[in-house]
Amino acid sequence: MLFFYAEMFLNMQSHIDISIVVPCYNEQLVLAEFHKRLCAVMDAVGRTWEVVYVNDGSTDQTLALIRDLERQDARISSVNLSRNFGKEIALTAGLDHACAAKGVVVIDADLQDPPEVIRDMIAAWADDVDMVYARRRLRKGESFLKRLTSWGFYRVIAKLGNRIVIPPDTGDFRLMSRRLLNDLLQMRERHRFMKGLFCWVGYPSKELLYDRAPRLDGKTSFNYWSLWNLALEGITSFSVFPLQLATYLGFFVSFVAVFYGVWIIINTALSGSHVPGYPSLMSVILFLGGIQLMTLGLVGEYIGRIFNETKNRPLYFVEAYHQANFIVSDKEEI
Ligand code: UDP
Ligand code: MG
Repeated sequence: MLFFYAEMFLNMQSHIDISIVVPCYNEQLVLAEFHKRLCAVMDAVGRTWEVVYVNDGSTDQTLALIRDLERQDARISSVNLSRNFGKEIALTAGLDHACAAKGVVVIDADLQDPPEVIRDMIAAWADDVDMVYARRRLRKGESFLKRLTSWGFYRVIAKLGNRIVIPPDTGDFRLMSRRLLNDLLQMRERHRFMKGLFCWVGYPSKELLYDRAPRLDGKTSFNYWSLWNLALEGITSFSVFPLQLATYLGFFVSFVAVFYGVWIIINTALSGSHVPGYPSLMSVILFLGGIQLMTLGLVGEYIGRIFNETKNRPLYFVEAYHQANFIVSDKEEI
């Protein structure tokens, strides 16, 4: 019996060309529209496909909506997580459950990444290319500060990334081959910075320019604080340079201190002893105190991550997984 199911699963896998993974958190306002546009695009592409909606512990009607869509469309798979785990983990859950044999697309539900671009991705996808990532040309509806910080972040990570090149202005929106995905899924770290992990795997990739639209409805769940945390995640998961920074800062301060000491000795020798310099003493103490606290904090960031990783907990729990009903979708294909 078990073999029968295993075989059936494998057969199903090979039937599907492309899986589209969509993490959803409180997306009740946009999900129906998203699905409509996705279907229009994918039906025109003419490949067998499924869409995997991951409900990341939404507190609104997102799950009910997914269930509704499921009843109408056999090409929908859904993963309902046991609570909100955050986008990076929701995405991983979706990728874990994607059955496609050939390629997997990752896309946001809010229509900021237009589903129409998937058509171009598939067109640009060749045998010798394992990943087609979409790079933003324009970012409509995002504040100047958000664009500035995101611009700065991609430049910093490009400098610190340790030989992996994370393409600038690129989100999670991309198409991956099954081979790349299988490798990607072997990385089970808790602190996941997906944009970095995609590139860490390697393989030939191709860039596709697109215009990022404003959110269709609802509101972004990323404020500046969570973006800051994501940036920190990105930097600390891919570089130990901040730890080395502490050493360099230490060197620099000691270097300056030596010159300062020499200057004090010469000054005392030439013009005798002054009243001990309270202001300069104070500023040196405060400066060094600040640097020490900052370095401690930096070390703490890494230790915190080691602590979280060593617990080795599962990344997420699934409350329910419904697999797309391929048999019906096969009939539809014929
Ligand atoms: N998302 C998620 N879990 C979360 C937060 C967001 O699955 O905890 C999903 C969300 O539904 C959307 C995508 O991640 O499909 C991007 O989120 P959002 O639009 O809020 O981010 P932004 O586009 O502003 O970076
Ligand atoms: Mg968005």
